[in-house]
Amino acid sequence: MTPPQAEEYARQEAELDELYRDIILDHYRNPRHRGHLQSPAACQEGLNPLCGDEVTVEVTVRDGRVDEIAFMGSGCSISQSSASMMTEAVLDKPVSEVRGLIGEFTSMMRGSDEVDYDALGDLEAMQGVRKFPVRVKCATLAWHTLEEALEQIARP
Ligand code: ZN
Repeated sequence: MTPPQAEEYARQEAELDELYRDIILDHYRNPRHRGHLQSPAACQEGLNPLCGDEVTVEVTVRDGRVDEIAFMGSGCSISQSSASMMTEAVLDKPVSEVRGLIGEFTSMMRGSDEVDYDALGDLEAMQGVRKFPVRVKCATLAWHTLEEALEQIARP
């Protein structure tokens, strides 16, 4: 990240609602499920060239549920914290429910009026990022990457 971009990002983050910012920064500093799985059923890499974010999602599915998930990556605080929050949100959930959650999350980030905030829980913290349209792609990167990983598994 170039210094002017880092400054702009720090300014944006300072503008986020305090509660949301605390949740986002906690996940950025203490990422959940960061690492690798022993034998992932799918491993998908996602890139956000606008910002330089990279996220790799590894996942296994057993009996139609997300059995294990891990991510690796580098990039801005929004991209990495969103990946961390996502792993917590989808672990042990049925794949059908996870697909629904991906839809709810991306709808929220697009600013849709019809979002099930109860289903999103803490993920609601990311909605503050909508104020900065360029960063919406940072927030959704991990989610699109997980969607592609699940498609890999679903393919015969
Ligand atoms: Zn980013």
